[in-house]
Amino acid sequence: MSRATAAYERLTDAMLETDPECQNDGRFVLDDQPAHTLSYICRACPLFDLCRDYAEIERPKGGVWAGKRYSSNSKAGTDE
Ligand code: SF4
Repeated sequence: MSRATAAYERLTDAMLETDPECQNDGRFVLDDQPAHTLSYICRACPLFDLCRDYAEIERPKGGVWAGKRYSSNSKAGTDE
């Protein structure tokens, strides 16, 4: 199992017990929503550490993860 897969499984397992703060919030998948406008939500999320760990390993192709934006153009998460 890859590190990214293991991190994703830890995150999704935790989501079975705890809802993420971004649940049903479409702003997290919009390309033009600045990450810094959503980071306050992530800071209050009980899944923050697991979400950040996954995103830092996997570098998702889009969306805001743990208060940072990831995209296919970026090598690392950004606050923009
Ligand atoms: S930390 Fe991750 S799971 Fe929690 S609100 Fe932010 S993006 Fe969603």
